[in-house]
Amino acid sequence: LMGPDGSLGVTIFEEITTLANQHQAINLGQGFPDEDGPAELSRLAQEAIARGNNQYAPGKGILDLRNAIAEHQNRFYGITLDPEHEVIVTTGATEAIAAAILALTGPGEEVLTFEPFYDSYGAMIGLSGARHTTAALLAPDFMPDLATLENSFSPRTKMVIINNPHNPTGAMFPLEVLTEVVRLAIKYDAVILTDEVYEHLTFGPTHIPVATLPGARERTLTISSAGKTFSFTGWKIGWLSGPAELVAAARTVKQFLSYSSGTPFQSAIAAGLRLEDDYFTDTAATLAHKRDILGEGLRAAGFDVYLPQGTYFINADTQKMGITDATALARKLPELIGVAAIPVPVFCHPEGALRTRSLLRFAFCKKVPLLEQAAERLATLK
Ligand code: PMP
Ligand code: GLN
Repeated sequence: LMGPDGSLGVTIFEEITTLANQHQAINLGQGFPDEDGPAELSRLAQEAIARGNNQYAPGKGILDLRNAIAEHQNRFYGITLDPEHEVIVTTGATEAIAAAILALTGPGEEVLTFEPFYDSYGAMIGLSGARHTTAALLAPDFMPDLATLENSFSPRTKMVIINNPHNPTGAMFPLEVLTEVVRLAIKYDAVILTDEVYEHLTFGPTHIPVATLPGARERTLTISSAGKTFSFTGWKIGWLSGPAELVAAARTVKQFLSYSSGTPFQSAIAAGLRLEDDYFTDTAATLAHKRDILGEGLRAAGFDVYLPQGTYFINADTQKMGITDATALARKLPELIGVAAIPVPVFCHPEGALRTRSLLRFAFCKKVPLLEQAAERLATLK
């Protein structure tokens, strides 16, 4: 059972958050906001609990939320979905990822991800028994080399996983890159699993859902999550949409992972998905300001900074500061200066880990004064 570091072990988020708590450090490691999402959604969930909405939800999610997901995909992207057969609610995006990979891939097959890759892809591909192949995202813009991308595909490629906007790099794939991935997925008859949990956390480029590209829809499963869009990461409400037969396969596995997902949160998230456009644009604008504050702080502290186009993560390179091993630094940082960050090599296989060995990922979904305090502490690294 192989995760990115050769075992399923303890996730890097758990490890670094524990260290951060031990040393009362500012935790810019694990990505979670330090403020709740809209009070109105929180109130709706509390009312649902008070009303006695506390028993199992239908396995595929309550109809109101499945309708709201379909409406959201139509309103923002012009994608039409049948809420009965083409949408399921999951226990966070994490469960959607697990269900799709376990349902659709297995021994003798390959699953291709870009590298660095979000940790649960590696763990779930390991559990499925498939072989995990990778295509490198290269600094400074963290794009794949389109001239050689086809070398990462083979007749055994059963699935290609796209994560756009991308964790941990913050890159957003432009149309040209998405078009090439879709072309290759069609040529090698691979399913596309696209993790778009940061779809609304973007700072310039418009998010392009893979499912909107010609020829993609019939082979694409799209994942998103209320955790990111509405700042309720602890509610663990996510969803998966796509062609009925692929969704049905994932649902079969979901039955035995969680059976169903948090009932009182589902109607609240349905209301969230129906919020006015302002909510979505304001959330992104607030986050862009935070990105700039932390980016400036990291630059002043001597890091080379890669400002992200989306997500709530900044990658910072330590090489110029005479530090080559970001993983060792991340383990010392909470005690050393009271700031925690995630080393990027943990999102890679060994070769990619070498390529990213001096990169740290900092989360900026925190209150401005805390980011300013983190910047002051980082400045003492010099
Ligand atoms: N995919 C990506 C790319 C993520 O960054 C995260 C969590 N930050 C998830 C999936 C998991 O989402 P959830 O918390 O909804 O399970
Ligand atoms: N996805 C969040 C991150 O990348 C953390 C999720 C987790 O702790 N598994 O920081």
